[in-house]
Amino acid sequence: MATVGVQHHKMFIGGQEADADDSYEIRNPANEELVATVAKGTLEHADAAVAAAKKSFEAGSWSQLGPDDRRQVMLAIADGISENIDELIEAEISANGATIRQAGGFHIGLAAPHFTYFAELAGKFEAEEGIHTAPYPTISQNILRREPIGVCAGILPWNFPLVLALWKIGPALAAGNSIVIKADEKTPLSTLLFAKIAKEAGLPDGVLNIITGDGPEVGARLSGHPDVGKIAFTGSTAVGREIMKVASQTVKKVSLELGGKGAAVVLDDVDINTVADAAIFGCCLYSGQMCESITRLIVPESIHDELVARIVKRIGTLKMGDPFDFDTDIGPVVSKRQHDRVLSYLKVAQEEGAVVAVGGKAPEGAEFEKGYWIEPTVYTNVTNDMRIAREEVFGPVLVVIKYSGDSDEAVAIANDSIYGLSGAVWSGDYERALDVAQKLQAGTIWVNDVHMVTPELPFGGYKQSGLGRELGPDALKEYTEVKHIHIDLSQKLEARAYDLVLSSDDED
Ligand code: NAD
Repeated sequence: MATVGVQHHKMFIGGQEADADDSYEIRNPANEELVATVAKGTLEHADAAVAAAKKSFEAGSWSQLGPDDRRQVMLAIADGISENIDELIEAEISANGATIRQAGGFHIGLAAPHFTYFAELAGKFEAEEGIHTAPYPTISQNILRREPIGVCAGILPWNFPLVLALWKIGPALAAGNSIVIKADEKTPLSTLLFAKIAKEAGLPDGVLNIITGDGPEVGARLSGHPDVGKIAFTGSTAVGREIMKVASQTVKKVSLELGGKGAAVVLDDVDINTVADAAIFGCCLYSGQMCESITRLIVPESIHDELVARIVKRIGTLKMGDPFDFDTDIGPVVSKRQHDRVLSYLKVAQEEGAVVAVGGKAPEGAEFEKGYWIEPTVYTNVTNDMRIAREEVFGPVLVVIKYSGDSDEAVAIANDSIYGLSGAVWSGDYERALDVAQKLQAGTIWVNDVHMVTPELPFGGYKQSGLGRELGPDALKEYTEVKHIHIDLSQKLEARAYDLVLSSDDED
């Protein structure tokens, strides 16, 4: 069902485009205009994609390639990303509302370097390690093999659809697997474009399949599918729990990147202006719709008022508006649903007694009549037991929580959360900062920095922020099975442990 003047996008199964009877409308979050239509996948598409992945894996066109051959194809894919960067940026911005600076620097800008990292890991991948053991019970040669799992599946959220897909596709392909990706309903455009780039770069048909579809139907099918050996999910903690439950029926491997409520501990020796800018960057990048956003600022009483005043002043300089304008600092949130959700949290915060330092509502004016806009918002007078401090808002909202000046008190507040994805500490003294960093319970802690995610270093959560790690040198291990092959070298029956069951054979 193509709408006149608006392109219709199909899924990608077994190296071919695949359409569906029904479709999604993709609307620009900045003005609600129709951007594209996309085929809406069904259970049959999920099954067809898994079958295509399985067939390609068994055929060996990718799974049996040597590491350097895989590396070459993956590097060609990374080049393809760079060559199509403008189209990818446009696809991303028009569906998820990232500003052009954010899309160029993060959402799409990270795609080629991150995929290149996985290509290089593919080239270095050691599938076998030989171990010669001591002669007990027999002298033996042992081989440890890291084998691809077979068919892997990834389920993606809407906020960073391409990069988060590559965090799954990259290591899965580098280890020799085939993969099925279920893109989010609202933002599948950049991922579908990537599938074409990968095919043109020489990835064999069926190795990468991109489908769409509603989560509870199509996503759940992948989570429970008996031919899927591993499921990698990025999204909300609530859906992560559901996926884990469904995946348990076939005991498949699961990795989860879930929600967060990142806390930054500010010590009393900081430069106020620097920390104010960092705090705004931490909570306002992509309008706060990032799992690792810093959304709780834990500030000593001694500098609280001065820091809040500086943050408010700097937020007053931010330009909100058209994401395609290079001067825009803050774009819309992704959807009406997300807009309503953030507004409902703003209401909760006020009912709980939080005080608005800046923002606290949707902006007014003709340019904000269409689209989903929320003012960057800072609350003071917040305690860590309030919902606004405990629950993930996923909008440009920062709460400031005071502490007496004892850093252990600040650490206790920061750690009092079901989440543990990211955290930060700000200080002019590295020893003090490191002491706090070591006590914070989260998978990534930034010292005097924020939002730094690099492919060379692992990313993932403590507690209910997730399971497993993406990125880093061990990323491929999440996409492999370990096999131990034991070869007896003694040539002597009596040297083995068989006598635990068999007594000696008198006939010999
Ligand atoms: P979501 O959990 O609602 O949806 C994510 C994906 O799961 C979508 O593709 C959806 O279709 C699918 N899905 C929904 N129900 C499903 C089910 N029952 N079974 C299988 N799949 C299902 O999340 P969202 O609203 O798209 O994204 C926001 C959330 O993602 C936030 O909580 C955020 O913190 C988290 N997130 C985490 C990271 C990270 O790396 N930790 C990164 C980005 C986003």
